[in-house]
Amino acid sequence: MDAAVIRVEGLTKRYGDVVAVDAIDFEVKGGATAALLGANGAGKTTTLAMILGLLLPTAGTLSVLGQDMVRHRYRVLSRMNFSSPYIDLPRRLTVAENLTVYARLYGIGRTRPRVRQLCEELAITDFMDRTLGTLSAGQRSRVALAKALLNEPEILLLDEPTASLDPDVADWVRQYLLAYQARTGATILLASHNMAEVERMCTDVMIMRRGAIVDRGTPAELIQRHGRQTLEEVFLDIVRHDGGEGARAAQ
Ligand code: ATP
Repeated sequence: MDAAVIRVEGLTKRYGDVVAVDAIDFEVKGGATAALLGANGAGKTTTLAMILGLLLPTAGTLSVLGQDMVRHRYRVLSRMNFSSPYIDLPRRLTVAENLTVYARLYGIGRTRPRVRQLCEELAITDFMDRTLGTLSAGQRSRVALAKALLNEPEILLLDEPTASLDPDVADWVRQYLLAYQARTGATILLASHNMAEVERMCTDVMIMRRGAIVDRGTPAELIQRHGRQTLEEVFLDIVRHDGGEGARAAQ
């Protein structure tokens, strides 16, 4: 698939004087693995939340799978999913209960086999009957990923997908996601601070600074354009350009 499945034009989010996302434009093609990179506070999570329809934009247009997400998000929500370390699943429910509740919310038939299959694939079967609150951060993030894959989404939005995972499990999760994508043709848009991860997984990298997209390309293009050796060096160049993190104040 080559057509754009996510299309964003003039997308803006303001909180009072703070411009969290500042009139950004981009498209993500079907089947791509794209990344939003940026320092803390650059606007990545806000952008993902607007694409998901969790936050209303202040201005701009946003379409996913051809649907306007502000007016018609219910037409496409069942074809998308997300995982984020900032959104907790209910801690008093067990892993199996959590996944079952979400599977029912998503209207998935044959809930039990689907939950069991995902638990096996993500190696979380051993703690299926434990409450979320008793799991380590890394274990919880695998459960969150299982939740994100319940409906076999065509569009998967991932905020820091491997943030709390040890290098071995993080590598395994990346392989799993790439295999999922190869099998289903899904489109992945992720926000990450892990440059090696982005270099390895993503074909399309958008670098955000203070709410704006300030550079974009494949990892190799960005590295070449900035005359650097790694994406991390490119990132540091861009982020340190004006010496600061975060959003800017509205004019
Ligand atoms: P991080 O890497 O730290 O997760 P991010 O790039 O995801 O950062 P966002 O969480 O999108 O950044 O935040 C962008 C800016 O918007 C930040 O300056 C943040 O303080 C601000 N912001 C986000 N949510 C709100 C809110 N509800 N009220 C006020 N300001 C907010």
